[in-house]
Amino acid sequence: MRIFHHADAVRHDPERYFRRGAIIPHPEQAVRYRILRDAAANAGHGLIDAPDHGLDPIRAVHDAGYVAFLREAWGRRGEMPGSGEEVMAGIFARPQMHRRPEGMLGLVGLYTADTSTPIRAGTWAAVHGSAQAAVAAADAALAHGHAYALSRPPGHHAYADSAGGFCFLNNSAIAAERMRATGGRVAILDIDVHHGNGTQGIFYARSDVLTVSVHADPADYFPFYTGYADETGAGEGAGFNRNLTLPLGSGDTPWLAAIKAGLSAILAHRPRGLVVALGLDASADDPIGALTVTRAGFAAAAASIARAGLPTAIVQEGGYLCEALPHNLVTFLDAFDAARG
Ligand code: ZN
Repeated sequence: MRIFHHADAVRHDPERYFRRGAIIPHPEQAVRYRILRDAAANAGHGLIDAPDHGLDPIRAVHDAGYVAFLREAWGRRGEMPGSGEEVMAGIFARPQMHRRPEGMLGLVGLYTADTSTPIRAGTWAAVHGSAQAAVAAADAALAHGHAYALSRPPGHHAYADSAGGFCFLNNSAIAAERMRATGGRVAILDIDVHHGNGTQGIFYARSDVLTVSVHADPADYFPFYTGYADETGAGEGAGFNRNLTLPLGSGDTPWLAAIKAGLSAILAHRPRGLVVALGLDASADDPIGALTVTRAGFAAAAASIARAGLPTAIVQEGGYLCEALPHNLVTFLDAFDAARG
């Protein structure tokens, strides 16, 4: 497996996260990158530094004002009197409050959905590097069949114009748009335990990118306000979004059945390329997960996705610190390679 990564991924290392009334250590830590990278390298996969394709592939998915905000926010923190070492909002725009303020205090709450995406000195470098890894994996998938992007921070909760759920730039969407730009339809299969809400939002009115997400039921799980089975697309995109929800606690059998159903829809779409949003947080061992997928489950998922035979860019999404994390990644990559032969 070709593995694309960017050393700047470690430059975003958030400290705190405000959850359910308590301030806790942030689950999406920079060490995730080193753990996943070292596990892949030790398993014999080739690591490639992602080349820099600049802002164009990012702007192909994200709002120009939002991208400018992400690039400039740290440098403008002086405009927020009394702010600490992280640029973070405590007040967020609601849909009924839609004016765009000029000042930084308001912009932070306009462009972020929650307190999980603090902006630090190295945040832009990290998310830019992550996006470049996804672009490189998309190119390599079309050229060589398959590739993996060690993108971190993750991306699938980021909308075209907002951060949220630990995510800033939607790496999976950027990879899909990169494939799309070369012609033909594209599909995204998101197997992170959380609904890929940002990805759904970006492509919701489009028929050229089919989005399929397999995730824990959002009725009582993040992202709560979207991710239900009756969200099937809008306008030209009607029928081109699928949400396959599973009861909290579900294990390998229903998870793999949902992935199979998703793959059937994807093959019927006849895409020229597939992006797999690979969250490893469906694992039974994940500290913030809600499903009980085993290592054998990840191997079976990888094999069935590989057997679909599509050019495939696998993009890292969630999966948090636990003993099983590196083993689940290596198991997935090895099983994918083995099924492709
Ligand atoms: Zn997740």
